[in-house]
Amino acid sequence: MQSYIDKTDKKQIEDLANESLPILYDYLRLPSISAQHMKITETVKYVERMLLDLGGKVKILDDLGGNPVVYACFAAASSGDTGSQKTLLFYNHYDVQPPDPLDEWESEPFEPVLKDGILYARGTADNKGSLLQRLVAIKYLQENGGLPCTVKFLIEGEEESGSRHLEPYLRKYKELFQADACIWEFGSLDDKERVQLYAGIKGSAYFELSTKSAAIDIHSSLAACIDNPAWRLVQALASMKNQQNDILVDGFFDEIKEPDEKTRKLVKELPFDKEAFRDLFGLTRPLITEARGEDPREALMFHPTMTICGMVSGYIGEGSKTVLPKEAKVKVDCRMVPGQTGEYLHRCIKRHLERHGFSDIKVDLIDAQRAYRSNINHPFVQLVKTTAEEAYRTKAVLYPNSEGTGPMYIFNRYLSLPIVSTGVGWAQSKAHAPNESIRIKDYIDGTVHMVCLLQALPEI
Ligand SMILES: [Zn+2]
Repeated sequence: MQSYIDKTDKKQIEDLANESLPILYDYLRLPSISAQHMKITETVKYVERMLLDLGGKVKILDDLGGNPVVYACFAAASSGDTGSQKTLLFYNHYDVQPPDPLDEWESEPFEPVLKDGILYARGTADNKGSLLQRLVAIKYLQENGGLPCTVKFLIEGEEESGSRHLEPYLRKYKELFQADACIWEFGSLDDKERVQLYAGIKGSAYFELSTKSAAIDIHSSLAACIDNPAWRLVQALASMKNQQNDILVDGFFDEIKEPDEKTRKLVKELPFDKEAFRDLFGLTRPLITEARGEDPREALMFHPTMTICGMVSGYIGEGSKTVLPKEAKVKVDCRMVPGQTGEYLHRCIKRHLERHGFSDIKVDLIDAQRAYRSNINHPFVQLVKTTAEEAYRTKAVLYPNSEGTGPMYIFNRYLSLPIVSTGVGWAQSKAHAPNESIRIKDYIDGTVHMVCLLQALPEI
């Protein structure tokens, strides 16, 4: 591959990135919280305006329910060489997480503050900064001979709420979004300033288990003859996972597609600093992989999980209240790996509970998204890595998938294309948490990365 960094005017990109900051600030001022249906119409209009101002062809798709999906297309320069045949799709989202807990913010979540080169506001890292950076890259290329390939955008408004309405849009508009490769919405530098790139994503199935055994809460003195739903639920959960952290649900692992040798090798080479990992969360117990003799990197990348996210039953207020609760509920999420589906795990868990005498426990599947891994041998995946290393002047680490979840599987299902995630974050970005931030330095380097990638795309 030829070097694109040498023919890129980094000073000009820096100037354009700085000029774009007021536009980013106004975008960040829109509290587009999908969970609370806030400012969605205004934000869609703002996104549309930004795309139109750059000369994009824009469509607002809203005929299939949910928050509108924004499509945009920037055609390759007609004078371009062979590159004009290729198309890159950017996936972004204009919605953000709620800013709570508000009292932990050091500035207003929806009023951007720039301090010592760090920009604070909800949505900076996740995901408004990444969109602006991509638009600045387009502007630079337009001013320097035109786009070497066609660029499309899919910008949705429900990513932070599980992308529930996205699949019908992809199914119906798959011709519109057709592309050769896709750059996903997120990514960051790690604590050693390496660029983290993700060629896939884990899936997720979210369940609610509940049981109700009386019409009203009961005086606990009657517990000698009345069964307790909280104990029922605790025992049911204990039958699903043992003290060694083995998941015991029959069939749970049966559908898994094992990673290939190259992917396994890649994971063995990933950096992992156990102490830093422990410190990050203030962990008080050993990693569960230690007792199991497992490599934590392999566990994070390849193992499905079953997590109790929250439980509720009876009285947990101050002091004591002797009550036998009428009901108990638990939320459980399973991070899935390729091959697994939420529907299948739902059947496995229901069957398991029936077989173990817990047929009174109701299991609802609330939400599910499947896992996806791009072929890491695809030239596009390698190109994202080499251009990242040039643009950031540092090492890039390619993860076969993120531990997190997003709608990647359906993108590949309807568009069949390699997908790599990279974004504007840094190790302290605190996405989803108070004081979310990005560094202006990364905003600029990431823009250089997108410029180099678009210039190099004709090579794949
Ligand atoms: Zn997010």
